[in-house]
Amino acid sequence: MEKSIKLGIIICDRYRTCAGGKCMRALRNREGAFERYRGKEVELVGFATCNGCPGGNVESVPAEMKKNGAGVIHLATGMVVGYPPCPRIAYFTRFIREKYDMEVVVGTHPIPENYYATHTHLGTWDAATWKELLAPTLTDEKTRVSYD
Ligand code: SF4
Repeated sequence: MEKSIKLGIIICDRYRTCAGGKCMRALRNREGAFERYRGKEVELVGFATCNGCPGGNVESVPAEMKKNGAGVIHLATGMVVGYPPCPRIAYFTRFIREKYDMEVVVGTHPIPENYYATHTHLGTWDAATWKELLAPTLTDEKTRVSYD
């Protein structure tokens, strides 16, 4: 039998009280950044916050997740959609890849439509660099609405 893919999730500390409902639903339904696991077994082996700006936990929690078998780290969608989005996403991505030789995916659940609309009006994601960062969680309007 094919081995399950083990992953860890790091969330923005601004959402530290979040129960993870949207992430768990998206993982179960293989939506948003979890669409890549359609037809595959996955196991969540770690869940932590960045511990607040500037994200000190990002330096250490991937090690613990890796020890628990994680091969992939997801940076939660809250880092992309917060007001403002986390300015360190690209750095975190490069750091985890370089330091821990782990795959890093930006995003978890689909971007909720209300965040999408506000950021679009604000022009938050106009810079070209956002295109790649948004790609895993942009999905389609119907899906985004269902995550409002
Ligand atoms: S904005 Fe970035 S560094 Fe600050 S708390 Fe959120 S994820 Fe952590």
